[in-house]
Amino acid sequence: MAILDQLRFNNCFSQLPEAFYTRQNATPLNNPELVCISQPAAEMIELDTSTNSLDRLCKITSGQDSSPSFAPLAMIYSGHQFGSYNPQLGDGRGLLLGEVETSHQGKWDLHLKGSGTTPYSRFGDGRAVLRSCIREFLCSEAMHHLGIPTTRALCVTTSDTPVYRETEEKGSTLLRLARTHIRFGHFEYFYYTKQHDLLKVLADFAIEQYFPELMNDTDKYLLMFQEIIRKTAQMVAHWQAAGFAHGVMNTDNMSILGETFDYGPFGFQDDFDWNYICNHSDHYGRYAFSQQPDISYWNCGRLAQALLPLIDNTDALQSIIDQYPQLYSSHYTELMTQKLGLTMVEDEDPELVKNLLQLLQDEHCDYTLFFRALCSFAPNESLPDYLQSLKQAPLESWLSAYAERLKRNLTDDKTRKQLMQQVNPKFILRNYLAQQTIEQAEQGNYQPIADLMQVLESPYDEHAEYEHFASLPPDWGKKLEISCSS
Ligand code: AMP
Ligand code: MG
Ligand code: MG
Repeated sequence: MAILDQLRFNNCFSQLPEAFYTRQNATPLNNPELVCISQPAAEMIELDTSTNSLDRLCKITSGQDSSPSFAPLAMIYSGHQFGSYNPQLGDGRGLLLGEVETSHQGKWDLHLKGSGTTPYSRFGDGRAVLRSCIREFLCSEAMHHLGIPTTRALCVTTSDTPVYRETEEKGSTLLRLARTHIRFGHFEYFYYTKQHDLLKVLADFAIEQYFPELMNDTDKYLLMFQEIIRKTAQMVAHWQAAGFAHGVMNTDNMSILGETFDYGPFGFQDDFDWNYICNHSDHYGRYAFSQQPDISYWNCGRLAQALLPLIDNTDALQSIIDQYPQLYSSHYTELMTQKLGLTMVEDEDPELVKNLLQLLQDEHCDYTLFFRALCSFAPNESLPDYLQSLKQAPLESWLSAYAERLKRNLTDDKTRKQLMQQVNPKFILRNYLAQQTIEQAEQGNYQPIADLMQVLESPYDEHAEYEHFASLPPDWGKKLEISCSS
């Protein structure tokens, strides 16, 4: 355990040629204060959380201090935003501070989001506001504890520095931890600027760092691509099974390691709706919940295109990308059958899942409460409370098909319930919970964040004292509009 800048640093990305980034220091925030810290994330990187260490963390995350251990830089990348290519993006409000080598948990990038302008800020102020930092903090940690591949969040720091959005807000930062900050858009940048020598340097770097087992393979670029799409398909299957909508699946927000990346206007399903659009600025529903598998496939196509200069065998590349829909649906079916407590997948199971989702959609059922209640369902016994509260006729028809299917399941009801409760969370980060917590934090009360983290850190367990965090959203919390403003 050590203070942040005395952890073991090995800043590999900063040793790449200067064409990959601009070296940049953070711009200090005034009168900073630490808002919240994730204990599990701190433990993971072996960070001491005593008062002295947290004071130091606050100084660093507010940009008031730096350290010779760091090699802060703004990365350059581009990407497809809402389907159109934007040739110049890059870290406009964040810095890669450095890369921490842990004893048992591998290596983690430290990225400070909201740290001031960089050469890639375009018209932005380089800042982030408290509400968006808290949302990213809560959701990245919640996703991790749900078992969904994601970047992590170490802490949020706020300040007196004013930041102007629709109103004046408090300039804040989020310290993000990720296995990598290399996005699909990094490859696109070097492809579209026709810097194919640097494209190769980037691909070799990614392979050496993240896919070292491929280093000596003659088809290493193809195989790297195959791994990336496998991880991406897995990640999106998890999103769909958890009812998570990302909201801004631009290619600059796609990590090459299939980690959920860049939390903005995300949302979890309350009443299940295929057409759920969590991003209020997404007028055409490009990133609607139902579109996520297709969009991730399309994004993988953009990455394939960017890798073309490195791959002679384009037929092989095509056949890998053609595997994507199948990769995705087999992961998805596996996760959904687990949610139903089925120990083996049968051919008809996707149909059972599809019919269930149609029922949830038609009857406006709460996605999370439904599955959690279903854990306690047993044929010929009285229905669990939430299921009893639903309209019975359509439900009975699906439940009788389910009960029929359970006859062939290789486990008894008691074991099935236990298995199902390990994959059907009781607690998710509903928008209204995040909103309540943010409103309190904006008044200077950070305790509700810590309370909410208690359930989000073990979402499959019961927490008698926090039962209210499992409630349906109140009316005001049902259709919260979350925009890109952050
Ligand atoms: P996002 O929509 O969060 O993926 O961001 C897209 C691009 O806009 C990235 O290059 C960000 O760095 C940049 N960006 C977002 N907000 C700001 C801001 N307030 N100041 C500067 N750049 C920003
Ligand atoms: Mg982004
Ligand atoms: Mg963002």
